[in-house]
Amino acid sequence: MGNTKASNPSPGLTRVTITLDVEDLQPDPSLPERAVDMTNWVLDLLSEHGVRASVYVVGELAKRWPQLVKRIADEGHEIGLHSWSHVPITNQTPETFLADCHRGRLLLQDLSGQAVNGYRAPMMSLVPSVAWAVPLIAEAGFTYSSSVLPGPSPLFGWPGLPQQPFQWTHGPIEFPCPLVRVPGFALPYLGGTYLRLLPNVVRRYGLSRSGSDEALWAYCHPWEFDTEEPFHLHEHIGMLASRIAWLGRSRMERQVRRLLNDPVAEPLGELALHLPDDGAALPFVDPTTPPTIGSAHWADGRLRN
Ligand SMILES: [Zn+2]
Repeated sequence: MGNTKASNPSPGLTRVTITLDVEDLQPDPSLPERAVDMTNWVLDLLSEHGVRASVYVVGELAKRWPQLVKRIADEGHEIGLHSWSHVPITNQTPETFLADCHRGRLLLQDLSGQAVNGYRAPMMSLVPSVAWAVPLIAEAGFTYSSSVLPGPSPLFGWPGLPQQPFQWTHGPIEFPCPLVRVPGFALPYLGGTYLRLLPNVVRRYGLSRSGSDEALWAYCHPWEFDTEEPFHLHEHIGMLASRIAWLGRSRMERQVRRLLNDPVAEPLGELALHLPDDGAALPFVDPTTPPTIGSAHWADGRLRN
Protein backbone atom coordinates (compact mmCIF):
# COMPACT_ATOMS: atom_id res chain seq x y z
CA MET A 1 0.00 0.00 0.00
CA GLY A 2 1.86 3.03 -1.20
CA ASN A 3 0.74 6.49 -0.33
CA THR A 4 1.23 8.23 -3.62
CA LYS A 5 -0.32 6.39 -6.51
CA ALA A 6 -1.53 7.63 -9.82
CA SER A 7 -5.19 7.58 -10.67
CA ASN A 8 -6.41 4.55 -12.52
CA PRO A 9 -5.73 5.11 -16.19
CA SER A 10 -8.28 2.58 -17.35
CA PRO A 11 -11.55 2.31 -15.43
CA GLY A 12 -12.48 -0.74 -17.46
CA LEU A 13 -9.65 -2.64 -15.82
CA THR A 14 -10.41 -1.42 -12.32
CA ARG A 15 -11.63 -4.29 -10.20
CA VAL A 16 -14.49 -3.67 -7.83
CA THR A 17 -15.63 -5.96 -5.02
CA ILE A 18 -19.35 -6.60 -5.05
CA THR A 19 -21.07 -6.37 -1.67
CA LEU A 20 -24.68 -6.96 -0.72
CA ASP A 21 -26.38 -5.78 2.47
CA VAL A 22 -29.21 -8.17 3.30
CA GLU A 23 -31.85 -6.15 5.11
CA ASP A 24 -35.60 -5.80 4.99
CA LEU A 25 -37.35 -2.47 4.54
CA GLN A 26 -40.80 -3.98 4.93
CA PRO A 27 -42.72 -1.28 6.78
CA ASP A 28 -45.62 -3.43 7.94
CA PRO A 29 -45.48 -7.13 8.89
CA SER A 30 -48.96 -7.66 7.44
CA LEU A 31 -47.58 -7.01 3.94
CA PRO A 32 -46.17 -9.88 1.85
CA GLU A 33 -42.55 -10.57 2.70
CA ARG A 34 -40.31 -9.79 -0.28
CA ALA A 35 -36.78 -9.69 1.06
CA VAL A 36 -36.06 -13.43 0.86
CA ASP A 37 -37.24 -13.67 -2.74
CA MET A 38 -35.28 -10.56 -3.70
CA THR A 39 -32.13 -11.81 -1.96
CA ASN A 40 -32.46 -15.10 -3.83
CA TRP A 41 -32.91 -13.10 -7.03
CA VAL A 42 -29.64 -11.23 -6.42
CA LEU A 43 -27.87 -14.49 -5.56
CA ASP A 44 -29.07 -15.90 -8.89
CA LEU A 45 -27.65 -12.84 -10.65
CA LEU A 46 -24.28 -13.28 -8.96
CA SER A 47 -24.30 -16.98 -9.78
CA GLU A 48 -25.07 -16.24 -13.42
CA HIS A 49 -21.91 -14.14 -13.56
CA GLY A 50 -19.83 -16.52 -11.44
CA VAL A 51 -19.15 -13.74 -8.97
CA ARG A 52 -18.41 -14.23 -5.29
CA ALA A 53 -19.44 -11.28 -3.15
CA SER A 54 -19.23 -10.08 0.43
CA VAL A 55 -22.72 -10.46 1.84
CA TYR A 56 -23.51 -8.66 5.09
CA VAL A 57 -26.60 -10.00 6.80
CA VAL A 58 -28.72 -8.40 9.52
CA GLY A 59 -28.59 -10.77 12.49
CA GLU A 60 -32.29 -10.98 13.28
CA LEU A 61 -33.01 -11.77 9.63
CA ALA A 62 -30.42 -14.55 9.68
CA LYS A 63 -32.22 -15.98 12.67
CA ARG A 64 -35.52 -15.86 10.78
CA TRP A 65 -34.12 -17.16 7.48
CA PRO A 66 -31.35 -19.69 8.25
CA GLN A 67 -31.73 -21.39 4.87
CA LEU A 68 -30.92 -18.13 3.13
CA VAL A 69 -27.67 -17.82 5.08
CA LYS A 70 -26.82 -21.40 4.19
CA ARG A 71 -27.40 -20.72 0.51
CA ILE A 72 -25.14 -17.64 0.63
CA ALA A 73 -22.38 -19.69 2.25
CA ASP A 74 -22.87 -22.72 0.00
CA GLU A 75 -22.38 -20.54 -3.08
CA GLY A 76 -18.99 -19.38 -1.89
CA HIS A 77 -19.79 -15.86 -0.79
CA GLU A 78 -18.22 -14.28 2.24
CA ILE A 79 -20.70 -13.67 5.05
CA GLY A 80 -20.38 -10.68 7.35
CA LEU A 81 -22.63 -9.00 9.88
CA HIS A 82 -24.79 -5.99 9.04
CA SER A 83 -25.73 -5.32 12.69
CA TRP A 84 -28.31 -7.27 14.67
CA SER A 85 -31.43 -5.22 13.89
CA HIS A 86 -30.26 -2.45 11.55
CA VAL A 87 -30.23 0.24 14.23
CA PRO A 88 -27.56 2.89 13.51
CA ILE A 89 -24.64 2.80 15.94
CA THR A 90 -25.55 6.35 16.95
CA ASN A 91 -28.77 4.98 18.47
CA GLN A 92 -26.96 2.34 20.51
CA THR A 93 -25.00 2.21 23.74
CA PRO A 94 -21.59 0.54 23.88
CA GLU A 95 -23.19 -2.30 25.86
CA THR A 96 -25.99 -3.04 23.40
CA PHE A 97 -23.67 -2.59 20.43
CA LEU A 98 -21.12 -5.08 21.72
CA ALA A 99 -23.77 -7.61 22.72
CA ASP A 100 -25.42 -7.35 19.28
CA CYS A 101 -22.09 -7.75 17.49
CA HIS A 102 -21.27 -10.84 19.54
CA ARG A 103 -24.56 -12.63 19.05
CA GLY A 104 -24.78 -11.69 15.38
CA ARG A 105 -21.30 -12.94 14.61
CA LEU A 106 -21.79 -16.21 16.50
CA LEU A 107 -25.13 -16.88 14.83
CA LEU A 108 -23.74 -16.28 11.35
CA GLN A 109 -20.78 -18.53 12.07
CA ASP A 110 -23.08 -21.29 13.31
CA LEU A 111 -25.36 -21.04 10.29
CA SER A 112 -22.68 -20.63 7.64
CA GLY A 113 -19.89 -22.82 8.98
CA GLN A 114 -17.41 -20.12 8.01
CA ALA A 115 -15.41 -17.63 10.05
CA VAL A 116 -17.22 -14.30 10.09
CA ASN A 117 -14.60 -11.56 10.01
CA GLY A 118 -16.37 -8.57 8.50
CA TYR A 119 -18.66 -6.00 10.06
CA ARG A 120 -20.67 -3.34 8.22
CA ALA A 121 -22.53 -0.68 10.16
CA PRO A 122 -26.08 0.20 9.12
CA MET A 123 -26.08 3.30 6.91
CA MET A 124 -22.31 3.90 7.38
CA SER A 125 -23.13 5.01 10.90
CA LEU A 126 -19.59 4.65 12.25
CA VAL A 127 -18.96 8.35 12.87
CA PRO A 128 -16.79 10.41 15.27
CA SER A 129 -19.49 10.65 17.94
CA VAL A 130 -19.45 6.84 18.30
CA ALA A 131 -15.69 6.33 18.05
CA TRP A 132 -16.11 4.06 21.09
CA ALA A 133 -17.47 1.44 18.68
CA VAL A 134 -14.13 0.93 16.90
CA PRO A 135 -12.39 -1.18 19.57
CA LEU A 136 -15.65 -3.02 20.28
CA ILE A 137 -15.85 -4.21 16.67
CA ALA A 138 -12.47 -5.87 17.19
CA GLU A 139 -13.46 -7.13 20.64
CA ALA A 140 -16.45 -8.89 19.10
CA GLY A 141 -14.02 -10.78 16.86
CA PHE A 142 -14.17 -8.89 13.59
CA THR A 143 -10.87 -8.31 11.81
CA TYR A 144 -12.20 -5.76 9.36
CA SER A 145 -14.97 -3.26 8.94
CA SER A 146 -16.49 -1.41 5.99
CA SER A 147 -18.54 1.07 7.94
CA VAL A 148 -17.33 4.61 7.25
CA LEU A 149 -18.08 7.18 4.60
CA PRO A 150 -14.83 9.19 4.68
CA GLY A 151 -16.26 12.56 3.73
CA PRO A 152 -19.04 15.03 4.41
CA SER A 153 -22.51 13.52 4.22
CA PRO A 154 -26.00 14.75 5.03
CA LEU A 155 -26.58 11.52 6.94
CA PHE A 156 -23.49 9.79 8.33
CA GLY A 157 -19.91 10.67 7.43
CA TRP A 158 -16.42 10.92 8.92
CA PRO A 159 -14.56 13.68 7.02
CA GLY A 160 -10.79 13.50 7.13
CA LEU A 161 -10.42 9.74 7.08
CA PRO A 162 -8.30 8.28 4.30
CA GLN A 163 -9.82 6.90 1.16
CA GLN A 164 -7.57 3.85 1.10
CA PRO A 165 -7.76 0.91 3.55
CA PHE A 166 -6.31 1.68 6.96
CA GLN A 167 -5.80 0.10 10.35
CA TRP A 168 -7.72 1.50 13.30
CA THR A 169 -5.57 1.78 16.39
CA HIS A 170 -6.86 -0.96 18.73
CA GLY A 171 -9.44 -1.84 16.13
CA PRO A 172 -10.04 -3.64 12.85
CA ILE A 173 -8.84 -2.85 9.34
CA GLU A 174 -11.24 -0.41 7.71
CA PHE A 175 -12.28 -0.42 4.08
CA PRO A 176 -13.76 3.05 3.63
CA CYS A 177 -16.62 3.57 1.24
CA PRO A 178 -15.30 4.64 -2.18
CA LEU A 179 -16.14 8.26 -2.98
CA VAL A 180 -15.84 10.49 -5.98
CA ARG A 181 -15.05 14.06 -5.03
CA VAL A 182 -16.36 16.99 -6.97
CA PRO A 183 -16.38 20.53 -5.57
CA GLY A 184 -18.67 20.61 -2.57
CA PHE A 185 -19.58 16.93 -2.70
CA ALA A 186 -18.21 13.50 -1.90
CA LEU A 187 -20.45 10.91 -3.52
CA PRO A 188 -20.47 7.18 -2.74
CA TYR A 189 -20.80 6.59 -6.46
CA LEU A 190 -20.57 2.79 -6.35
CA GLY A 191 -23.40 2.24 -3.95
CA GLY A 192 -27.09 1.90 -3.58
CA THR A 193 -29.00 5.07 -4.25
CA TYR A 194 -26.09 6.70 -6.08
CA LEU A 195 -25.60 3.72 -8.35
CA ARG A 196 -29.33 3.67 -9.12
CA LEU A 197 -29.90 7.36 -9.68
CA LEU A 198 -26.69 8.91 -11.00
CA PRO A 199 -25.84 8.73 -14.70
CA ASN A 200 -23.41 6.02 -15.66
CA VAL A 201 -20.82 8.65 -16.58
CA VAL A 202 -20.41 9.37 -12.86
CA ARG A 203 -19.44 5.76 -12.21
CA ARG A 204 -16.91 5.82 -15.01
CA TYR A 205 -15.56 9.18 -13.86
CA GLY A 206 -15.24 7.93 -10.29
CA LEU A 207 -13.40 4.80 -11.37
CA SER A 208 -11.06 6.84 -13.55
CA ARG A 209 -10.27 9.12 -10.61
CA SER A 210 -9.78 6.32 -8.07
CA GLY A 211 -6.32 5.66 -6.74
CA SER A 212 -4.73 2.29 -7.34
CA ASP A 213 -4.24 2.11 -3.56
CA GLU A 214 -7.97 2.16 -2.94
CA ALA A 215 -10.03 -0.94 -2.29
CA LEU A 216 -13.05 -0.32 -4.46
CA TRP A 217 -16.33 -1.87 -3.42
CA ALA A 218 -19.88 -1.46 -4.58
CA TYR A 219 -22.86 -2.02 -2.33
CA CYS A 220 -26.46 -2.84 -3.02
CA HIS A 221 -29.54 -4.10 -1.23
CA PRO A 222 -32.07 -6.74 -2.30
CA TRP A 223 -34.95 -4.22 -2.21
CA GLU A 224 -33.19 -1.99 -4.74
CA PHE A 225 -33.88 -4.56 -7.44
CA ASP A 226 -37.56 -4.93 -6.52
CA THR A 227 -39.45 -3.14 -9.26
CA GLU A 228 -42.79 -4.63 -8.27
CA GLU A 229 -42.97 -3.37 -4.73
CA PRO A 230 -45.51 -0.54 -4.32
CA PHE A 231 -44.33 2.69 -2.74
CA HIS A 232 -44.33 2.66 1.06
CA LEU A 233 -43.68 5.50 3.44
CA HIS A 234 -40.98 4.41 5.88
CA GLU A 235 -41.75 6.62 8.82
CA HIS A 236 -38.36 6.25 10.48
CA ILE A 237 -36.62 7.81 7.44
CA GLY A 238 -39.34 10.22 6.28
CA MET A 239 -41.06 10.93 2.96
CA LEU A 240 -38.04 12.21 0.99
CA ALA A 241 -35.79 9.26 1.85
CA SER A 242 -38.68 6.85 1.26
CA ARG A 243 -39.15 8.33 -2.21
CA ILE A 244 -35.43 8.07 -2.92
CA ALA A 245 -35.42 4.44 -1.79
CA TRP A 246 -38.18 3.70 -4.27
CA LEU A 247 -36.85 5.59 -7.30
CA GLY A 248 -34.64 4.19 -10.02
CA ARG A 249 -35.13 0.53 -9.21
CA SER A 250 -35.66 -0.32 -12.86
CA ARG A 251 -32.06 0.84 -13.50
CA MET A 252 -30.47 -1.16 -10.72
CA GLU A 253 -30.17 -4.49 -12.50
CA ARG A 254 -28.55 -2.82 -15.51
CA GLN A 255 -26.13 -0.85 -13.33
CA VAL A 256 -25.06 -3.90 -11.36
CA ARG A 257 -24.75 -6.03 -14.51
CA ARG A 258 -22.29 -3.40 -15.78
CA LEU A 259 -20.18 -3.99 -12.69
CA LEU A 260 -20.51 -7.77 -12.99
CA ASN A 261 -19.51 -7.73 -16.65
CA ASP A 262 -16.13 -6.22 -15.71
CA PRO A 263 -13.52 -8.21 -13.81
CA VAL A 264 -14.48 -8.05 -10.14
CA ALA A 265 -12.28 -8.12 -7.07
CA GLU A 266 -12.43 -10.80 -4.41
CA PRO A 267 -14.59 -10.43 -1.28
CA LEU A 268 -13.31 -7.88 1.23
CA GLY A 269 -12.44 -10.58 3.77
CA GLU A 270 -9.97 -12.05 1.27
CA LEU A 271 -8.57 -8.63 0.41
CA ALA A 272 -8.02 -8.04 4.13
CA LEU A 273 -5.85 -11.15 4.30
CA HIS A 274 -3.66 -9.85 1.47
CA LEU A 275 -3.13 -6.37 2.87
CA PRO A 276 -0.65 -4.82 2.76
CA ASP A 277 0.27 -6.43 -0.54
CA ASP A 278 3.67 -4.76 -0.97
CA GLY A 279 4.98 -5.26 2.56
CA ALA A 280 4.38 -1.69 3.67
CA ALA A 281 2.32 -1.12 6.78
CA LEU A 282 -1.19 0.17 6.45
CA PRO A 283 -1.70 3.68 7.78
CA PHE A 284 -2.84 3.69 11.41
CA VAL A 285 -5.71 5.91 12.43
CA ASP A 286 -6.60 6.61 16.04
CA PRO A 287 -10.39 7.02 16.16
CA THR A 288 -10.17 9.44 19.08
CA THR A 289 -7.74 11.95 17.53
CA PRO A 290 -7.48 13.80 14.23
CA PRO A 291 -5.88 11.62 11.58
CA THR A 292 -2.23 12.68 11.37
CA ILE A 293 0.56 10.20 10.86
CA GLY A 294 4.22 11.16 11.21
CA SER A 295 5.25 13.64 8.57
CA ALA A 296 2.36 12.66 6.36
CA HIS A 297 -0.72 14.80 6.16
CA TRP A 298 -4.23 14.37 4.96
CA ALA A 299 -5.35 16.20 1.89
CA ASP A 300 -8.52 15.63 -0.04
CA GLY A 301 -9.17 12.44 1.87
CA ARG A 302 -5.78 10.91 1.11
CA LEU A 303 -2.61 10.37 3.03
CA ARG A 304 0.22 12.31 1.42
CA ASN A 305 3.87 12.70 2.27
ZN1 LIG B 1 -28.27 -1.41 5.67
